[in-house]
Amino acid sequence: MENPVHNFIGGKWVPSRSGKTFETRNPATGAVITQCADSNAEDMNDAVGAAHKAFESWRRLPAPRRGELLFRAAERLFHEKETLARSLTSEMGKVLVEGRGDIQEAIDMAYYMGGEGRRQFGHIAPSELPNKSAYAIREPLGVIGLITPWNFPMAIPAWKSFPALIMGNTVVLKPSPETPYTAALFVKCLEEAGIPPGVVNLVMGSAPDLGATLVKHPEVALISFTGSKVTGGKVAVDAATHYKQVALELGGKNAILVMEDADLELAVEGIVWSAFGTSGQRCTACSRLIVHREVKEKLVTRLLDRMNTLRVGNGLDPEIDVGPLINQTQVEHVHALVKVGQTEGAQLRAGGHPLTEGPHASGHFFAPTLFDNVTPSMRIAKEEIFGPVLSVLEVNNLEEAIKVNNSVEYGLSSSLYTQDVNRAQHAIRELDSGIVYINAGTIGSEVHLPFGGIKNTGNGHREAGQAALDTFSEWKSIYVDYSGRLQRAQIDTN
Ligand code: NAD
Repeated sequence: MENPVHNFIGGKWVPSRSGKTFETRNPATGAVITQCADSNAEDMNDAVGAAHKAFESWRRLPAPRRGELLFRAAERLFHEKETLARSLTSEMGKVLVEGRGDIQEAIDMAYYMGGEGRRQFGHIAPSELPNKSAYAIREPLGVIGLITPWNFPMAIPAWKSFPALIMGNTVVLKPSPETPYTAALFVKCLEEAGIPPGVVNLVMGSAPDLGATLVKHPEVALISFTGSKVTGGKVAVDAATHYKQVALELGGKNAILVMEDADLELAVEGIVWSAFGTSGQRCTACSRLIVHREVKEKLVTRLLDRMNTLRVGNGLDPEIDVGPLINQTQVEHVHALVKVGQTEGAQLRAGGHPLTEGPHASGHFFAPTLFDNVTPSMRIAKEEIFGPVLSVLEVNNLEEAIKVNNSVEYGLSSSLYTQDVNRAQHAIRELDSGIVYINAGTIGSEVHLPFGGIKNTGNGHREAGQAALDTFSEWKSIYVDYSGRLQRAQIDTN
C-alpha cells in the first residue's frame, strides 16, 4: 500500500480531512512501518454517512450473495496469508507462526460466516389462532461501529466484520492506533473481494477520543468493542447515554488448574503456550497457575527448565518463541506490577525485568516471568497484567482450586489438567468462565463456537459461532392472518 495509508470511506482511499498522519512502528526494532491517516470527528462522520448510505442496498442483497463475497474475501486473505502474517508480525510483534494463526482466524471466520448466507434460519411456530401463520426472521441493525484492540489486529476486525456483514449490516472499523496498517490490509482484501463501496469503512487515528465519536454518532446502531475493562466501561456509558446497543469483550485473568493426577509434561507445554505465547498479551492468556500441593514443586521445576529454553526476540526470526510487548508503556506497566508482586511477598523465580541489551536494545522486550507462593489476594493474582508474567498459587484439592479460579472479577477462560473424567465434568460445571478447556491450555478458540466471558469480561454477548448472529441482528416476528376476520390473540380462545 502507498505511504501514507489513507482511510477507506465510501469505497475510496482518502486522506484524513486535516491531512495529518501518524506513524506505526515495529515493537521489536523501533523501525517506522508507515504513516497512516490521523482522523478526527469529521472523518468519522464521513465514514458513518457512507455506511448509512450503503446500508439500503447491502441489506437488500440476498444473503447468499453476501456470503459469496465473504468467500471471495476468504480467498483473498488465503492468497495473501504469508505477506499479511509478516506484515502483522512487523507491526504487532507476535512471532510469525502466531501471525499466521491470526490471519487464519480471519480466513476461517470468512468461510464460516459466508456459509451463514445460506442459513440464517428463523423460527416457524404454530399460531394459537386458526388460519394464521406465525414466524420470526432475523434483520440487520444498520451501521455497526467496530472498535478493536491491537493484540489480534487481523482476527478481531474479521471476527466482528464478517458476522455483521452477513446479517446485512454495514460497518465502520476504528482499529487500535498501535496496529492501523494491519487493519488497512484487511480492508484492502475486502475491497479486492468486491465488497461494494460504503459497506466496509476504515477510520484510523491516534486521538484518544476518536473511538468515542463513533460510539456517540447518532447513525450508529450498535458498537462492538474489544479492549480493556476501563475503556469498555466508558464505551458502555457513552452507548447508554446515546441509547444504543453495545457488545463488550474485555479483559481476563485466566487460570490453568493442575491436579495431582495430571500428565505434567503435557501440562507444562500448555502452560508455556498459554502464559508466554503472544508474550502474554492475549485476553485468554494464562496468568495464574493453580496447582495441587503434591505436584507443585515438580511442576514448577519442569516449568522453569522449559522457560529457560524460550528465546525472546524479533518475531520474524523463526528461532524466536516470545516476541516484544506492544510498546514502552506496556513494558513499564508490566514491570510496575512485577514490583508490586515482590513487595506483596511473592517469590520471583524467573525473569521479572525488561530486556534491553544486545538484540533487545531497540524493542520493547520483557523476560518471561514466574512468581511462586502467590496468594489469591495479591494484586498479581487479581489484575490483568497483559505481559509474560505467570503466578503460581498452591491449593490442597480441586474444590479449593475452583474457588481460587472463581475468585477474580473476570471470567473468560479456564483450563484443568486431570486424568479423572469425574473431576473434569465437575469442574466444567463449577468453573466461572465462558470457555473451559480440559487437558489443554487457556487459548485455542475455534470460530464456530461462541467466544466470550462472564462477569467483568463482558456484558453478556458472545462473538463467533451462531451466537455472533444474535449480536448483529434483530428479530422480527411476523403474523399473517388469512382467516378474513378479526381474530384477537389471548381473547378469541374458543
Ligand atoms: P484499549 O481498551 O486501550 O483500546 C481498545 C480500543 O478502544 C482501541 O481501538 C482504542 O483506540 C479504543 N478507545 C480508547 N478509548 C476509547 C473511548 N473512550 N471510546 C471508544 N473507544 C476507545 O485496549 P487495548 O490496549 O487496545 O487492548 C488490550 C485489552 O483488550 C486487554 O484488556 C485485553 O484483555 C482486551 N482484549 C479482550 C478480548 C476479548 O475478546 N475479551 C480480546 C482481545 C483483547
